[in-house]
Amino acid sequence: EGLSIDQNASSKIDNSSTDEDQAPSAAEQSLLQKILRKGLIESTKDLKIQRKDPNSPLYSVKTFEALNLKPDLLKGVYKMGFSAPSKIQETALPTLLADPPQNLIAQSQSGTGKTAAFVLAMLSRVDTTKPYPQVVCLSPTYELAIQTGEVAAQMARYCPDIKMKYAVRGEDLPRGTKLDDHIIIGTPGKTLDWSLKYRFFDLSKITVFVLDEADVMIDTQGHQDQCIRIHKMLSSKCQMMFFSATYDEKVMEFAEMIVTNPLIMRLMREEECLDNIKQYYVKCNSEEEKYAAIRTIYSLITVGQAIIFCRTKKTASWLSGKMKQDGHGVAMISGELNVDERIKVLDRFRIGDERVLITTNVLARGIDVSAVTMVVNFDLPTDMNRKADYETYLHRIGRTGRFGMAGIAINLIDSDEMMTVCQDIEKHFGKKIILLDTENEEEVE
Ligand code: ADP
Repeated sequence: EGLSIDQNASSKIDNSSTDEDQAPSAAEQSLLQKILRKGLIESTKDLKIQRKDPNSPLYSVKTFEALNLKPDLLKGVYKMGFSAPSKIQETALPTLLADPPQNLIAQSQSGTGKTAAFVLAMLSRVDTTKPYPQVVCLSPTYELAIQTGEVAAQMARYCPDIKMKYAVRGEDLPRGTKLDDHIIIGTPGKTLDWSLKYRFFDLSKITVFVLDEADVMIDTQGHQDQCIRIHKMLSSKCQMMFFSATYDEKVMEFAEMIVTNPLIMRLMREEECLDNIKQYYVKCNSEEEKYAAIRTIYSLITVGQAIIFCRTKKTASWLSGKMKQDGHGVAMISGELNVDERIKVLDRFRIGDERVLITTNVLARGIDVSAVTMVVNFDLPTDMNRKADYETYLHRIGRTGRFGMAGIAINLIDSDEMMTVCQDIEKHFGKKIILLDTENEEEVE
């Protein structure tokens, strides 16, 4: 009796809670992914290529030397620690650098080397003897534009003659300015103002037009139209480069409006799977018991880091408060933190300042902290109808096959309803979720 009252009480709190965190916007997601990912994602998948004229030759390179880059640019590439082109770069770079220029649409998941590819192409196309903008690169947000600009600045570190300017909020120029920068990296609205409204530069002189993060772009009201208005003013000889992390009909429609006669390149995403994950569940009767389970689990893991997912901000704060009281160093990310704050917390976690990260749905995807060996679902992921949310489960605990380390996932179950959700998850993935008796420590090994 007592137990069932407890359960009802806690599920009532959960049901009525309005503090359930929403997943972040596409732009925030993309930014976090960029900042968190410090290295290239290698791919085991084949590149899929589509083009109008199958007779035109298709080149690919295995080295950066083979691209005949300006020596100072090549030096910059090596200084960034790149030794060989990534899978998409092998084929994208010869296309982007070809004469006559070729248009490209490329889709591959974040971290596969798209930005480095188009930045290299942008830099290598600049003619520094001409003192006016020749390259326009559009990004969906201020932060994403800055990220791209920083990559460009690093790569161009030995090319001091190349001048770049951000067309983003906060950058304001006096009327009548004529820009002498070669590269403009900006958001659609500001770039449109600078070109059409204030005539700071002439879009018809642009030779390279890059549209980055197209999927995020169309996610933002008005961006797509602004991009199209900019695109209309470009010369027909301008080279078009179009990038997206995802591929669907809306993105392709947009691509076709912007890019004529393109080479289309797609790299399928590396599937996340549960193959090398051991999955367990622990039966608990209250939040307190869940906390006791966490404490036991915590004492059992001696290496690596753990992430604990809670359904609401409230639970996340409560849990992190309790763990801190018990003297454990924990990091917490919930929807209350802005992007900058989230990045700071994640950076600290990544360098190992804390061993445990507590979070909500704001962080289901895109975290890629290689030292994380354990994921705990303090609350199982469910949808609006309190049914199992398989996709989120996979994103929380799945690893990409070849590169994923073995890991452990532990699900804390505190009601019959959640037991059913757990069983549904087990059935859905066809992978056993084993009962873990936290009294019996042997089993975790
Ligand atoms: P995307 O734009 O597809 O998200 P990026 O170009 O940002 O990918 O590359 C992802 C990460 O890999 C970045 O940290 C970048 O510095 C690194 N990187 C890109 N190309 C290479 C390469 N050829 N060799 C090694 N690292 C690379």
